[in-house]
Amino acid sequence: MTTIPSHARVVIIGGGIVGCSVAYHLGKRGCPDVLLLERKRLTSGTTWHAAGLVGQLRATHNLTRLAQYTTQLYEGLERETGQATGFRQVGSIAVAASAARLEELKRGASMARCFGLEVEILSPAAAKERWPLLSVDGVLGAVFLPKDGRTNPIDTTQALARGARHAGVRIVEDIKVTAIRIERGRVRGVATAAGEVRADAVVNCAGMWAREVGDWANVTVPLHPAEHFYIVTQPIPGLTPSLPILRDADACSYFKEDAGKLLVGWFEPRAKPWGERGIPEDFAFEQLPADLSHIEPLFASAMRRVPALESAGVQLFFNGPESFTPDDRYLLGEAPEVRGLYVAAGFNSIGIQSAGGAGKVLADWIIDGHPPFDLWDVDIRRCAPFQRNKRYLRDRTVESLGLLYAMHWPFRQAETSRGVRRSALHDRLAAAGACFGEVAGFERANWFATSGMQARYQYSYGRQNWFEQSAGEHRAVRERVGLFDQSSFAKLVLRGRDASAVLGRVCANDVDVPIGRIVYTQWLNERGGIEADLTVTREAEDSYLIVTSCANQTRDFSWLSRSIPDDAHAVAVDVSSAYAVLGLMGPRSRELLATLTDDDLSNAAFPFATSRIIDLGYARVRASRITYVGELGYELYVPTEFAQSVYDVIVGAGGSFGLQLAGYHALNSLRMERAYRHWGHDITADDTPLEAGLEFAVAWDKRGGFVGREALLRQRQAGVRRRLVAVALEREDRMLYHNEPIWRDRELVGAISSGMFGHTVGAPLGLGYVAGGGALVSEEWIAAGRYEVEVAAERIPARVSVRPFYDASRARVKG
Ligand SMILES: Cc1cc2nc3c(=O)[nH]c(=O)nc-3n(C[C@H](O)[C@H](O)[C@H](O)COP(=O)(O)OP(=O)(O)OC[C@H]3O[C@@H](n4cnc5c(N)ncnc54)[C@H](O)[C@@H]3O)c2cc1C
Repeated sequence: MTTIPSHARVVIIGGGIVGCSVAYHLGKRGCPDVLLLERKRLTSGTTWHAAGLVGQLRATHNLTRLAQYTTQLYEGLERETGQATGFRQVGSIAVAASAARLEELKRGASMARCFGLEVEILSPAAAKERWPLLSVDGVLGAVFLPKDGRTNPIDTTQALARGARHAGVRIVEDIKVTAIRIERGRVRGVATAAGEVRADAVVNCAGMWAREVGDWANVTVPLHPAEHFYIVTQPIPGLTPSLPILRDADACSYFKEDAGKLLVGWFEPRAKPWGERGIPEDFAFEQLPADLSHIEPLFASAMRRVPALESAGVQLFFNGPESFTPDDRYLLGEAPEVRGLYVAAGFNSIGIQSAGGAGKVLADWIIDGHPPFDLWDVDIRRCAPFQRNKRYLRDRTVESLGLLYAMHWPFRQAETSRGVRRSALHDRLAAAGACFGEVAGFERANWFATSGMQARYQYSYGRQNWFEQSAGEHRAVRERVGLFDQSSFAKLVLRGRDASAVLGRVCANDVDVPIGRIVYTQWLNERGGIEADLTVTREAEDSYLIVTSCANQTRDFSWLSRSIPDDAHAVAVDVSSAYAVLGLMGPRSRELLATLTDDDLSNAAFPFATSRIIDLGYARVRASRITYVGELGYELYVPTEFAQSVYDVIVGAGGSFGLQLAGYHALNSLRMERAYRHWGHDITADDTPLEAGLEFAVAWDKRGGFVGREALLRQRQAGVRRRLVAVALEREDRMLYHNEPIWRDRELVGAISSGMFGHTVGAPLGLGYVAGGGALVSEEWIAAGRYEVEVAAERIPARVSVRPFYDASRARVKG
């Protein structure tokens, strides 16, 4: 029987391409005592049967950096290890068969350029020249990425494994891990059929088994396998090994030359979940039964794009399982539930092209204790605990696979597994015409349909069907008063006699304030990067209420809990479900609220950034004078069982003040005009308060200091080299969403981090960072430039400012 060591610094569970890449990169960084355990043979799970496409353009800059790195790694791996990989940089062509798809591709091309990828926009004829078997019937245009490639997944994994072994990693096959050992919230090792292994860190790279492996440690790893299909034809004359990959997303199809044959694969709109009752114990190098009736319509649409398929004959019908996550993004990083337990799984059919980058950054994360740059899009801390629910996952998987090739419409909402988390006001909002969108399973009113209109999205890249409704909500807030249901906020309480000292170290702003004060603050890492952006209310001498966004519930709670020293008298509790939140916002909010309470709401008695418990209707609620929309307003924290009665009295009294229900799209357009930052887009762990223009929220000299202060001081001394600015397009008919390149005096200087139409300013607005090629960025330099923003390959003049376009003096907020 194989013997394994009784101790390792790191144990990796799973020898697919991802586990081998993590092993390779740990080895390269010189990490000693790394042990990879594979239950069967390397690649025997999903990796062995992948099609091997290696694309580079992803939805965000950092994910693109990872995919780009993968290409560079694979390019040199054979030279380095002596193991052939089959990697070839043949390029890829994506064709568009509709105007909307062409806009999507062109927006992608603009983004690619901004990320430093080579890209060409092709006419249909030019696409055919590069791909002679292509029928350009109905094709409006195409995009060519010359550095995309393809590889042999088995050989590439073996090359990574060989590189890892050279670097001292021990790889053992035919040993199944059967349990994860945890002591006091920290991983301590694994159990296997061949004995126990003590370890300082464990990495779950178990592919479609990773959810079950996570369950052993009570860690949420939301993924579910689905069947994934391709065929390989008989040889087709004229195919050459240098033929680019071809994608026709409108036909759900991709095409790859494969030893003189064509491999044709699909991302169909309704996928087939697999493995609901568990994965068979012996599953290794296995195929699932071919389902011809399932692929028949897909095959037909592929034939329309490549007519040579009609006569080619099929040599292989392939069906293999791959795991998908609820949001089609993979799961990476240290699990919030258990220290030292890392996850790299759920690769949504891009595991081959992602493995290089994901393995590298995870190795850095394990060794350095933090990721090398912001990886929020794939960070496992974005997951909510309920997302482990199998039924939820199975039903979402039906849709997730196809969404990879579906139109990536702005504001697109999932159709499956909906209605999971609902506010206490949900039914009232639905009856009032709410169209809901989902964040971490929470249904939130995004906009309200007016009479005669269906509360359903009609998507486009331009003004969508809710544009005017949302504009009406926006104006009501600016001119009168609007009511938002913000119950999805995460609410955390930190309590104990050391609460003030503990939170003081975590927050960059000063939270040792009088009871009833609200503090807007960031939580920083040691490098000065922004880990969280939230408000802190001192409820009592020894108690704080911390309010953050729904998407950051797990992450911020984990950051806070891990920041409490063992000997401190402070405990963090997540009280999110205990309170509904109503945002009453607008110049008439005070007048309206005054009709429902006897408490003194005057500016003198209840100024901005303070919070008090008041009577409201028959209830007692916490009213916090704070805003994310740039107007006088109150966030009302209402114990959940009082939410409906409080809502009813507000709405009942609201008519004479012109009260209007408003949704998250209006919230977004309102905050954009005031240039309020959004964590995850405008501010991330890669951005500091100085770069983000948030120095006003840094209490440099407070007692006890704060995490990140030294790094921030160094940056203040040296000056910043990039700066967040507000951007307004000079044309009203183009929308800004995300990642549109910003040009200054014809030089690329940055990209839009978030965008929305500003109905009061009357222009498409965005926020984004600008940088001057490593030079210091001053306000004068910013003001001196002439700017354009590139939207779908077209440059549009824009205004740029370090101050908000609306109420820069904050007079309305303080009024
Ligand atoms: C038909 C098809 C085509 C695809 N085409 C592409 C493509 O063109 N490009 C692309 O980028 N991606 C593609 N993919 C996706 C890609 O194959 C996967 O994302 C990738 O292989 C996942 O790798 P992994 O290492 O996470 O998982 P796996 O390869 O499944 O590896 C996990 C390993 O963990 C082992 N394991 C599980 N439990 C234990 C345990 N308890 N103890 C020890 N070991 C354990 C398993 O045996 C397995 O070997 C495709 C997938 C399919 C199905």
